[in-house]
Amino acid sequence: MSLEDVARRYAVSVSPHLLALMDPVDPGDPIARQFLPSLDELTVLPEERTDPIGDAAHSPVSGIVHRHPDRVLFKVVAACPVYCRFCFRREMIGPAKDNALSKEDFDAALAYIAAHSEIWEVILTGGDPFILSPRRMAEITGRLAEIGHVKVIRWHTRAPVTDPDRVTDELVAALHAPGATTYVAVHANHPREFSPDAKASIARLVDGGVPLVSQSVLLKGVNDDVETLAELMRGFVENRIKPYYLHHPDLAPGTSHFRLGIEEGLRLVRELRRAISGLAMPAYMLDIPGGFGKVLLESANVEKTATGHRIRDGRGVWHSYPARGE
Ligand code: SF4
Repeated sequence: MSLEDVARRYAVSVSPHLLALMDPVDPGDPIARQFLPSLDELTVLPEERTDPIGDAAHSPVSGIVHRHPDRVLFKVVAACPVYCRFCFRREMIGPAKDNALSKEDFDAALAYIAAHSEIWEVILTGGDPFILSPRRMAEITGRLAEIGHVKVIRWHTRAPVTDPDRVTDELVAALHAPGATTYVAVHANHPREFSPDAKASIARLVDGGVPLVSQSVLLKGVNDDVETLAELMRGFVENRIKPYYLHHPDLAPGTSHFRLGIEEGLRLVRELRRAISGLAMPAYMLDIPGGFGKVLLESANVEKTATGHRIRDGRGVWHSYPARGE
């Protein structure tokens, strides 16, 4: 088994920007750990799933996930500037996966959104939609904003910290269109991701009139201590990004080396709450495997069982969660 076997199964790409942030003499470098492939990825546990958060069960047409009435995910692209080794959609994205949305699929997805007047918010994801050209992004923003009931367009991206040169004035302009408000959710997991170039790209978005929220994944060996998490969340606030979600890692194939236990996550989040300002506090979330949606991970929604945990979803239904997946 070799790293070529890993690369044959999951996409690999690292930007020069990230390579420059890695410490070559630190075997546990938290930037390298997130982006450089590892043989650990070839260990796939039985409870790991190709579609860990159950997108497919809620996909009425290609590219759309309609899990909650007032919002949809719109997966506009199946590629990213870099590939995170813990990615929850790793089975669906990358050059070898052939999941690109055709023009017909794209038009059908827009028609679906237009036909469903309850859709208030469209979340653009992928892949990383900031990999698209500003011209293409402007077309997407414009066509969504033309739909009267779509009031909010939210782009999910990691590009401001992984490939900051992509965030040009032209890209920022492509996020705006009359009739809808745009938000951007920026994904970062370690305070060292806030390099000077990343800070400049984030400032370009905020100064360009885009409100920002954060997303992070709680990852073993990257940010699973209170000091790092506190510095990360403070870093978001200092850069004018409101901390939003801290995700418990999903049961994606070959990612068990990144997962920590739910008890440990709950303890870290309790300590984090004591350590930082309320302004810097994210919500600790678990996407319940099987497509049951996200739930706030707090003691009221979590119970220990003989085989792991059970988790209560937003409708009050309990679901088992395997101990070995932790
Ligand atoms: S940027 Fe997002 S979609 Fe792309 S590999 Fe990383 S986590 Fe996955």
